[in-house]
Amino acid sequence: MATLVNLRNLLEHEIEDLYSAEQQIIEALPAMATTATNRELKAALREHLRITKEQKRRLDQVKKILKKDSQDAEGSQGFLARMFGGDGGTKCKGMEGLIKEGQKVMGEEMDPAVKDAAIIASSQKIEHYEISGYGTARAYARELGLREVERLLAATLKEEYTADKLLNTLALNKVNLKAEKGSGSAAGKASSKGASKGGSQASSKTSSKGASSKGAAKKGAAKKSTARR
Ligand code: ZN
Ligand code: FE
Ligand code: FE
Repeated sequence: MATLVNLRNLLEHEIEDLYSAEQQIIEALPAMATTATNRELKAALREHLRITKEQKRRLDQVKKILKKDSQDAEGSQGFLARMFGGDGGTKCKGMEGLIKEGQKVMGEEMDPAVKDAAIIASSQKIEHYEISGYGTARAYARELGLREVERLLAATLKEEYTADKLLNTLALNKVNLKAEKGSGSAAGKASSKGASKGGSQASSKTSSKGASSKGAAKKGAAKKSTARR
């Protein structure tokens, strides 16, 4: 890969990374939705698939803007143009790892309710990774005065926050409670061990149910401020 000499180059690298991440998520989500048992979780994952395809299109727009902008600046010979010329070059290894880990967990034998909790845990890791990536890219675009790119990235960032919040609510209000008891049927016994471990949300473990929703709100606020940097 060509030497990255400035923030603009780093933004383009980040965009390629996010593009690959979204592509991998599009490939992974259908199986996650199929594996999920809870209806709301299934619906949320399917809805996020639809949104993710939209996000990928948004990144296409971003790449187009950046490509045109760099061609205007240094002619079509610029290395940036070359960087954006071929596709499939960059694979986001971070997302690859998160998805692989999620698939490994999903492949383990679990009570269906516990599996739902595990799917939410994997999904939130994915969302947090995206929130970090989009937050950074948006900050770069803002710094570089790329207003339209900034707007597009902000729109996706907002959707990732919404998805994360929805998963959090689903986990705290429904899925974790069910997983705590297990689904009851044949897998009831097998789940009792996992159930004692409680939920997948770091903040929910140490606090009561009432306090945990407050904790989640606080967490959201903290995330917002990071992404604003
Ligand atoms: Zn990378
Ligand atoms: Fe996304
Ligand atoms: Fe997402």
